[in-house]
Amino acid sequence: MTDFTQNDFKGTRALFRIPEGVIYLDGNSLGPLPAGVEQRVARTLAEEWGTRLIRGWNDAGWMTQPGRVGDRVGRLIGAPPGSVVMGDTLSIKVYQALAAALALNPDRRVILSDTGNFPTDLYMAEGLIATLGQGHRLEMVEPEAVEGAIDGRVAVLMLTEVDYRTGRKHDMAALTARAHAAGALTVWDLAHSAGALPVDLTAAGADFAAGCTYKYLNGGPGAPAFLYVAPRHAKAARPALSGWMGHAAPFAFEPSYRPGAGVERMRVGTPPVIALAALDAALDVWDGVDMADIRRQSIALCDLFITEVEARCPELALASPRDGARRGSQVSFRHPQGYAIMRALIDRGVIGDFRAPDILRFGITPLYIGADELRAAVAVLETVLAGRLWDRPDYHRKATVT
Ligand SMILES: *Cc1c(COP(=O)(O)O)cnc(C)c1O
Repeated sequence: MTDFTQNDFKGTRALFRIPEGVIYLDGNSLGPLPAGVEQRVARTLAEEWGTRLIRGWNDAGWMTQPGRVGDRVGRLIGAPPGSVVMGDTLSIKVYQALAAALALNPDRRVILSDTGNFPTDLYMAEGLIATLGQGHRLEMVEPEAVEGAIDGRVAVLMLTEVDYRTGRKHDMAALTARAHAAGALTVWDLAHSAGALPVDLTAAGADFAAGCTYKYLNGGPGAPAFLYVAPRHAKAARPALSGWMGHAAPFAFEPSYRPGAGVERMRVGTPPVIALAALDAALDVWDGVDMADIRRQSIALCDLFITEVEARCPELALASPRDGARRGSQVSFRHPQGYAIMRALIDRGVIGDFRAPDILRFGITPLYIGADELRAAVAVLETVLAGRLWDRPDYHRKATVT
């Protein structure tokens, strides 16, 4: 069953700084530090900001960085050069994508999403609806019911490809085709896809997509988000957040907004130069990595993890699809004491995370995780469960971030 690839990822594992004694299964929430990032950020501070000062905007290419780094992300998600731009947060990018998509489908009022979507996407939709004041409605159905719910009322289908809790994966190409057949546009959230599995936005015919870069792309806490606009919409897409960096001529300081060329118009304000430098260095990890190899290895490792957990920890219930083809790069289990169990695991060096109400989440990323670490992690999990080591008052007290 286990079909590990020829590539053992020794090369990429050497590129990450993982502390001694830690088995890191939370790269789906915050990727670890790639070795080249520290040097690159230090260089940006000393040689660019520290030395060039304001001249850095021209001399060090700070102004063109959002598009250049966007093209590097684009290569990982099947987006052609010039169709991805970096900046802001994923919440903001979802808002921009949804606003542009709604404006392109002006006769319809329904935004269709699913109950597995990440709350911020839904909240941003609610906020946009209130701002527009045009009677739009957000309709949510169970993930399995999405396909059947796409009809002639839907303006935009807004989905996250991989469910943040269960890892269940939507069929992006099929749902996009279904949406287009019904006259709807699509906004895809790739938070748990970019860097986790092969994505081909062009082949899928996606209209808009957005994602963050601090999860599987290892860009660091608060790393800037990305936004994709299909080239066929680039000229017509209207930016709802019409900031000066998305203006056709920011330094002409004209009194009125004119959209910039293509996806550049989706820039808002001043780019986060230092964070983009960190991300740019983090993306070096992907040079020479074949996403198909990552996918094969990820499925094999996730299968192994499920087999081991089910054999040794029978009180945990699998919350993720058993079929690797229907899963992202994480495995989740349910347990009523999930929070305390995860706290006990983290205390013993096995870092995953918890999502309410009862989900233990384990991100499995072949770039730096192998079969030996997974077996060792399951041994710790078995010890914690068998000895009820989680049943301590401090493990039950919720921290601010879970
Ligand atoms: C992580 C995540 C976000 C986070 O949005 P931010 O604006 O970066 O905080 C949004 N959507 C999904 C689906 C996520 O998984």
